[in-house]
Amino acid sequence: MIGRFPSRTHIGRRRLLLGATAGLVAGPALIASAAPNFTADPFQLGVASGCPRPDSVVLWTRLAPDPLNGGGVGPEPVPVDWEIAEDDGFRRIAARGQHIATAAWAHSVHVQVQGLKPARWYWYRFRAGGTLSPVGRTRTAPAANAVLDRFRFAFASCQQYELGYFTALRHMAARELDLVIHLGDYIYETSWGWHRVRHFTGAIPTTLDEFRERHAQYKTDADLRALHAAFPWLVIWDDHEVADDYANDISHRNRDPKFFLTVRRAAYQAWFEHMPVPMSAAPVNGSLRIYDHYRFGSMLDVMLLDDRQYRSRHPCVTDSRTTKRPVDCSERTRPDRSILGAAQEGWLDGSLATAKARWTVLAQQTLMAEVGRGGQGEQGFMVDRWDGYPASRQRLLDSITRHRIANPVVIGGDVHSFWVSDLKRDFATKGPVVATEFVGSSVTSNGPSQAAVDRVLAANPHLKYGRGDKRGYVAMELTPQTLTTHFEAVDDVQDPQSAVRRLRSFVVENGKTGAVPA
Ligand code: FE
Ligand code: CA
Repeated sequence: MIGRFPSRTHIGRRRLLLGATAGLVAGPALIASAAPNFTADPFQLGVASGCPRPDSVVLWTRLAPDPLNGGGVGPEPVPVDWEIAEDDGFRRIAARGQHIATAAWAHSVHVQVQGLKPARWYWYRFRAGGTLSPVGRTRTAPAANAVLDRFRFAFASCQQYELGYFTALRHMAARELDLVIHLGDYIYETSWGWHRVRHFTGAIPTTLDEFRERHAQYKTDADLRALHAAFPWLVIWDDHEVADDYANDISHRNRDPKFFLTVRRAAYQAWFEHMPVPMSAAPVNGSLRIYDHYRFGSMLDVMLLDDRQYRSRHPCVTDSRTTKRPVDCSERTRPDRSILGAAQEGWLDGSLATAKARWTVLAQQTLMAEVGRGGQGEQGFMVDRWDGYPASRQRLLDSITRHRIANPVVIGGDVHSFWVSDLKRDFATKGPVVATEFVGSSVTSNGPSQAAVDRVLAANPHLKYGRGDKRGYVAMELTPQTLTTHFEAVDDVQDPQSAVRRLRSFVVENGKTGAVPA
């Protein structure tokens, strides 16, 4: 019947087909688990989509009828039907299929749907054990050569669940957007801050089960689920998906390196299981590649970067318990140090060589601009940021210059404050501005005082704007002529009904690097 999921016999036939042609799992296991009986809704964690290409998108869900007690599915593989339609009534079905969710991946579902049309909305849903999931909406990328009048996206980062409500995400969900980008600190591993409006269910996660529970608890938040269901996302991670300020295989919180690598492996797997990324992105031997290049017509190239997994260790750190004090030493500027790692630096240079769109956005974790302390008694640099890796930053900016990127824009998070900056090869000189940087505040995480931000602004003329006392997100509107950035701020992050209002807007003109107030 058109508009409904196929009948049971129909599914049986297709399951045989899948088993025969795709060889996903052996037949007997499928038959054993053909009709699981869930005692509660298996779709409590919602649905999500991501990785939009002109002809494909990834659909995600995870079966978890008991999300905070291990998921509640048991060891059996479970067949999950999915369908994607051109209308929200599911009358014009574009594709259908079945995914076998297994306990090995926490019964998460990652379907990369192929053969879709570019630049259009689709609606999708899942069914397992006779239960239908909520409906999600997604959008494919425009064709690579499509000429667009406009493209709109918003980005966010740093959502410490205990410190406030995800009002910023609710506000994003109500916008008209083509895409959402999340820059990391999607979960936090630790409890911190002074005033908590809600609480994590467990202690600091170190095992796979504990990381799964933390991700599941995040997805009990209705605002987060609604934003996932509203738009396709591109996702990268930062440090708190694993451990505060970790660098590659080193963590000042887990000082036994062998133990830390087991923590990181668990954290990466749980991240994969809860994000709308394809099965082909599943971690291998404890590594997971998240850096990638997306195109949105002739308007936008997006490079997703990973400045955590491959970075050199923090320089100059004399107290191994913290990386949060400004420090300096000759190691910091060594040319062999990298925040991206040699392989990713090489990949990025190659990708920039092919970036031909009007705007190129480098989506990465943290503040890229140099932050000199200006002799305020706090000399040195914050080495967890790009300031700990200045040679790596110079190579990136040189690559942008060498490939004559038309309008390079860097976006970041991590520092829980809004920033606009001019990125330069040498921040001490009046040399050319190579790229424009916008850093978003946190969704909830506490930020620095405005007094501290004002001191930094006074000492660093390449920083055009800074705001530390507001939580929120950033929306971007791209046209062939301008890129307009809106900093949106939540009035009171601890009030679930809080208003969100525009703090400031900035414009970058085509061909003129650097932002000016709108
Ligand atoms: Fe953060
Ligand atoms: Ca961070």
